[in-house]
Amino acid sequence: MGTYNIALVRGDGIGPEIVDSAVRVLEKIGQKFGHTFHCTPYLAGGCAIDATGKPLPEETVQGCLNSDSVLLGAVGGPKWDNLPGELRPEKALLGLRKALGLYTNLRPARLYPALKGECPLRADIVDEGFDLMMVRELTGGIYFGERGRRDGANGPEAYDTEAYSVMEIERIARAAFDAARKRRKKLISIDKANVLETSRLWRETVHRIAKEYPDVEVSDMLVDNAAMQLVRRPSQFDVVVTSNMFGDILSDEASQITGSIGLLPSASLGASRCGLYEPIHGSAPDIAGQDKANPLATILSAAMMLRYAFDLSAEADCIEAAVDQVLNDGCRTADIARGETKTILGCQAMTTEVLNRI
Ligand code: NAD
Repeated sequence: MGTYNIALVRGDGIGPEIVDSAVRVLEKIGQKFGHTFHCTPYLAGGCAIDATGKPLPEETVQGCLNSDSVLLGAVGGPKWDNLPGELRPEKALLGLRKALGLYTNLRPARLYPALKGECPLRADIVDEGFDLMMVRELTGGIYFGERGRRDGANGPEAYDTEAYSVMEIERIARAAFDAARKRRKKLISIDKANVLETSRLWRETVHRIAKEYPDVEVSDMLVDNAAMQLVRRPSQFDVVVTSNMFGDILSDEASQITGSIGLLPSASLGASRCGLYEPIHGSAPDIAGQDKANPLATILSAAMMLRYAFDLSAEADCIEAAVDQVLNDGCRTADIARGETKTILGCQAMTTEVLNRI
C-alpha cells in the first residue's frame, strides 16, 4: 500500500477529458489495491498561455519536479497556432522534458487481437501477433548536434551533425535492458554501424552494458533492415533500442501497424523516478468537448506510470487486462468503430466500461 503524488497536466483540446478518464481509473485501482493517488492539476500549453501568458509557467515546472510522476493529456490547438515560436504551446512539452531530464522515450505498440481488422498489414503477417516496445533516445544525436549553412566546393550547403557520448549510450542502453527485463527479455539494438561511427560506438557500448544483463538476449539490426522487418515479420520484435532520429521514424512506422492512434501510450523517463506519461496522439481539437475522444491511450499511459514509476506491476496488468477485455467485448469509441459496430461509446462511457472490468 502506497501514497503517490501525481502532477496532472491536462492541457488543451481533448486533454482534460482523457486525463480525467485516467484519474477515474487510478481511483478505482487505488480502492482495489489500497493505494492513494494524490493528483494535483497544473497548467501547460494553450490554457496556460490564456491564463498566464506563458506556455509553461514556473509553478507547473516546480509542481512536476516535486511530484512522483506526471500524467499529461495533450497541448496545442488552432487558437494558438499563430503565436511566435517561444510562445507556442509545444514549448511546454520541450520545456518539461528538459526540466525533468527525460532522455528515454518508451513507446509500446501492440496490435489488439480484437482490432486486427484495423491493421494495414495482411492477416497472415500479423497472425503471430505484434507487441513491441520501442526505446528511443530523446535528448542527443543529430537533432541536437551542431548544424548550419556554409560555402562548400559546389556552392552553398547545409550540414547536421550526429554525436553520441558513451555516457548517453550507456544510460539509454540500461533503460532498454531494464524494459526488456519487464517483458520477454529480448532486445534488438538498431543502428547503421556499417556506415556511421556513432553507430559503431553505439553497438560497442550496448554490448558492454549487455554483460550486466545476462538474462536478456541482445542482437543488432541495421536500421534499413529494421524498417523492412517491421512490416515483414513484426512478431520477431520485443524491445528495440535506437537513437533519436531512427527512433522517431521507426516508432511512427510501428504505431501505424497497430491501426489506431487513440490506443497508444508512451512514457518519457530520465535519471529521477519522475517521468512523463502521455498518449502519443495530440489534442484532437476537431472532437474536443464533445465526449468523443478515445480515453484508452491515456488510461494505458497511467498503467505505464504504475509499472515504470511506482513498480506496481500487478496494478498495471489489471488496467491492461481491463482494456483488453473492453475491446474483446466489442466496446468501441468512434475512432476504432467499424461498419458492424452497433453502439458507439463516448469518452465517459468507454471509461465506465474499463472501470467495470477492473
Ligand atoms: P491529433 O493526434 O490531435 O489528431 C489527429 C486525428 O486523430 C484527428 O482526427 C483526431 O480527432 C484523431 N484523434 C487523436 N486522438 C484521438 C483520440 N484519443 N480519440 C479519437 N480520435 C483521436 O493530431 P493533429 O490534428 O495533428 O494535432 C492537433 C493539435 O495537437 C495540434 O495543435 C498539435 O500541435 C497538437 N499535438 C500535441 C501533441 C502533444 O501534446 N504531445 C502531440 C501531437 C500533436
